[in-house]
Amino acid sequence: MPTTIHAVKTGAQASTQAVDESTTATSQPKKASALSVLQLTSILRSLMTTTVSSSPILLGPSMAIMTTLAHSTNPLLNPDRNFVLRYFLKKTFYAQFCAGENEREVRQTIDGLKAIGFRGVILGYAKEVVLKDDEKKNLTSFDAESRKEATAEEIRAWTEGTLETVRLASAGDYVALKFSGAGLQALADLTKQSPPAPALADAIDGICQLAVSRGVRLLFDAEQQAVQAGIDDWTMTYMRKYNKSDQAVVFGTYQGYLKATASILSEHLRQAREGGFALGVKLVRGAYLGSDPRQLIHDTKEDTDKAYDGMSEALLRRQWMAPLTPDSDAFPPVSLVVASHNAASVEHAQTILASGMAVTTDVAFGQLQGMADEISCKLVLDAKMAQAATQQVEAGVQAYKYLVWGSTGECMKYLLRRAQENRDAVQRTRSSRDAMVAEVLRRFKGVFGMA
Ligand SMILES: Cc1cc2nc3c(=O)[nH]c(=O)nc-3n(C[C@H](O)[C@H](O)[C@H](O)COP(=O)(O)OP(=O)(O)OC[C@H]3O[C@@H](n4cnc5c(N)ncnc54)[C@H](O)[C@@H]3O)c2cc1C
Repeated sequence: MPTTIHAVKTGAQASTQAVDESTTATSQPKKASALSVLQLTSILRSLMTTTVSSSPILLGPSMAIMTTLAHSTNPLLNPDRNFVLRYFLKKTFYAQFCAGENEREVRQTIDGLKAIGFRGVILGYAKEVVLKDDEKKNLTSFDAESRKEATAEEIRAWTEGTLETVRLASAGDYVALKFSGAGLQALADLTKQSPPAPALADAIDGICQLAVSRGVRLLFDAEQQAVQAGIDDWTMTYMRKYNKSDQAVVFGTYQGYLKATASILSEHLRQAREGGFALGVKLVRGAYLGSDPRQLIHDTKEDTDKAYDGMSEALLRRQWMAPLTPDSDAFPPVSLVVASHNAASVEHAQTILASGMAVTTDVAFGQLQGMADEISCKLVLDAKMAQAATQQVEAGVQAYKYLVWGSTGECMKYLLRRAQENRDAVQRTRSSRDAMVAEVLRRFKGVFGMA
């Protein structure tokens, strides 16, 4: 079974340890090491991946190998066909970032995360399409005949995978969906900002209805610019249909690195107010820095950071403050997922919530499985401290881990994206590596009575 952060002590062990380490003899909570909730195997695996990602010598060859494996059509390089390759990947990178290949493995992983103290998971189905330049150009030129052939099977596979994901999630969990996974016709329709084809529209309705009946919420991922305006249109259609007046079932994803996002978000907030539904917002910085047109992205990282924190603050306070476009009418209810590995952004949102200035209370924090564990575990530990201090199980922020499930081969493109993301955030990866080294040293000293 895949074991990363989920390779934890049992629930009882995990919570006992957290209480032990966060409580002094006088029962006053004190700061414990956030990473103490993780098993050593998990720490060592994170150390391995962050060491590779932050080393210019190791990163180049590793990226080349991952890119080849993710795009190759050679059966020998397909982990689902090559047993040795699958074994190696499953024990290392797959175990670090993914939930499992089947129901048993996925449930074990989720149970492990909840035993640590995570409120739940954001679960995704691994299949995804990353467009190359020539594919982007071809999207608008599909003829009806070639579309028809490709469409039915692609929609069926995506729908079954997504429905299964909703079934694997429990009430209170989130399921992440990528419309691009629904195939070439979906991509072509998104590019032209056309509505989904009837078969896909029925499928999305079926997914939303199952999610409502199971108390699961749906996060529609943001993707590349070529399809993002279409994704926004589809997302608003389903928000209007399924979101309640005070709480969202369907969430859109807003990429803080785009100059246009604050005004798109402002427009969506106005539509939510007029439509009488809560806007579901998953706030991210944006993962397509290498492929989205540079001129559409903020000029500097600092500008992206400012936009992200500004939008997060406006949504938490429910105020039309910068960078949102000013508006004199009411601010609609919002459900928010602060999806970030940036310690300053997480702390910024946490501080607003803790200060009592936040009007939005339906708020979750999400980090990807296998990444920024020091931030995720700190959120978990902070929540435990708040619960201990207030004796209320709901106290503290809600921390979630985002993870995908699927066969090792199906997860390769997802793993490649994680590798690219680590490469693009070298400083943060180094911080994660340093946190892992510090935790290993802390445990080592503990064993030899040097702590
Ligand atoms: C739970 C979760 C769900 C996610 N879902 C999505 C999704 O649906 N769609 C999606 O696109 N991404 C998604 N992401 C990824 C996200 O967009 C970021 O790429 C990733 O989280 C890194 O950003 P950060 O906020 O963690 O902080 P940091 O690591 O501090 O920021 C890195 C980010 O800053 C931006 N940036 C870096 N350099 C520059 C520069 N020179 N100029 C301008 N901006 C710059 C880029 O967006 C880069 O990814 C998700 C992330 C999480 C944690």
